[in-house]
Amino acid sequence: MTDGVLAGYRTLVTGASSGIGQGTAVAFGAAGARVAVDYRSQPDDAEETVRRIEAAGGEAFAVRADVSDPEAVSAMVEEVCDRFGGIDVLVANAGLQRDAPALEMSVEDWRTVLDVNLTGQFLCAQAAARRMVQQGPGAGPARSAGSIIAMSSVHDAIPWAGHVNYAASKGGVDMLMRTLAQELGPRGVRVNAISPGAIKTPINEDAWSTPEAERELLRLIPYGRVGVVEDVAAAAVWLASDAADYVTGTTLYVDGGMTTYPSFRDGG
Ligand code: NAD
Repeated sequence: MTDGVLAGYRTLVTGASSGIGQGTAVAFGAAGARVAVDYRSQPDDAEETVRRIEAAGGEAFAVRADVSDPEAVSAMVEEVCDRFGGIDVLVANAGLQRDAPALEMSVEDWRTVLDVNLTGQFLCAQAAARRMVQQGPGAGPARSAGSIIAMSSVHDAIPWAGHVNYAASKGGVDMLMRTLAQELGPRGVRVNAISPGAIKTPINEDAWSTPEAERELLRLIPYGRVGVVEDVAAAAVWLASDAADYVTGTTLYVDGGMTTYPSFRDGG
């Protein structure tokens, strides 16, 4: 496929063997991009992402890297650039939860979440931006030298009891993203975040997989439905494209209104 808004874009999506990453990789392929599908431990699921992109006429390959491992991240970005001849878009999407009340949380669970959700995003952004800066603006299919999309969460703004490690990591992603946008803007690299609300994926299955749980969740969503990965993927396609060329240093909330504090809708 060559006629989409991302025609010829060389892209890397981390954590693309499931959920939002998989949906974004498939949408990128459908928009004409060449897609590197990062995974950590599920090669079959990553191959399924590749198959779905190829079935729609796109080009993709799977690449294994733990985003919290600096050497693995460097090798991954190098492989993407070897195979595609450069990199135009990174979606730093890989993430996880290790939930516990703050008073009981182990330091291992604190570190694992910060290592993957925050340090992992930094490592991927750093490795990709080094190549983007070398390429320079307009050298590839995009006007920019490249664009980075950090997958954040509404919990970059909404505190989340029982998830202090996760909320801290996403709060960190906000400043990571905005500082990189400030620093890399003069070099032609755009950096933005997407903050999803509740999206049906394996990470939060408990919150939507039974009618009772879903009903409870909907109380937090003014728009009245739980999100799906396509909601986030469509936002990522737009942010990655030249239609968003003047957009950098900002967060796009894709949350059905969750960040409007719906519990105040009856007067608080
Ligand atoms: P998911 O569990 O389906 O996807 C997360 C992916 O990250 C998985 O493929 C997993 O293998 C991968 N991953 C985890 N650790 C990794 C590592 N060290 N290296 C490489 N890959 C790793 O869940 P999802 O909902 O699709 O989550 C994707 C992103 O969206 C995460 O950053 C998450 O915090 C964010 N998010 C999700 C929601 C939601 O409601 N689903 C809401 C807000 C933010």
